[in-house]
Amino acid sequence: MQNQIEKNLVLVNQKISKACKTYGRNTSDVNLVAVSKTIATENILYAINSGCKIFGENYVKETQEKWPAIKKQFPQIKLHLVGHLQSNKAREAVDLYDCIESLDSEKLAKELQKEITKQQKNPEIFIQINIGEEPQKDGIAPLSAKDFINFAKNECRLNITGLMCVPPAGEAPSTYFALLAKIAKENNLSKLSMGMSGDFEDAIALGATHVRVGTAIFGKRI
Ligand SMILES: *Cc1c(COP(=O)(O)O)cnc(C)c1O
Repeated sequence: MQNQIEKNLVLVNQKISKACKTYGRNTSDVNLVAVSKTIATENILYAINSGCKIFGENYVKETQEKWPAIKKQFPQIKLHLVGHLQSNKAREAVDLYDCIESLDSEKLAKELQKEITKQQKNPEIFIQINIGEEPQKDGIAPLSAKDFINFAKNECRLNITGLMCVPPAGEAPSTYFALLAKIAKENNLSKLSMGMSGDFEDAIALGATHVRVGTAIFGKRI
């Protein structure tokens, strides 16, 4: 498994470099977030030993089970929350993550503000945009983005630095990536978390600063 993860990572990093070259991006401006939901600690450690520096998890409970031990050994590793966060888990999230990519409601913004004040921790926060306006998906509607960003920044004083999206499945993602980039630009946000195993090169073409890659590193999740 170590060998396979190492090989996969070499390949993913080569593809990132190639896309950066093709689309005129600096490789230092594109961060690989290794999405390790359902992945065992042993395999996460292989990825760390192969050079991964940022990891993404989807669930608070799973993060609590796996990460305190890993962080103790590798305190320099950065941990991002990429899944939906319930507002009653804000306390745990502020404690666990260096970056919360999935802020998607006023209620959660207020809870995060409370916890950040209490814990004296200040994680980076990205706002998740429901870029395809899909009823079943979390995220702020594109047309409400401006007001929500201002609310989170000015009223809740959160450290909002970027936007995140998951485009509709089964459609070409590029128009959605372009729209996310446009919303970020209009609101002076510099970070863009977009692109997964199947489409991170398209995301890099359109300005991604964070690509969230799971399957292409760790193999198919079971
Ligand atoms: C699981 C997940 C990923 C990784 O997806 P892969 O297709 O396995 O690369 C990225 N982002 C989010 C929000 C996810 O839930």
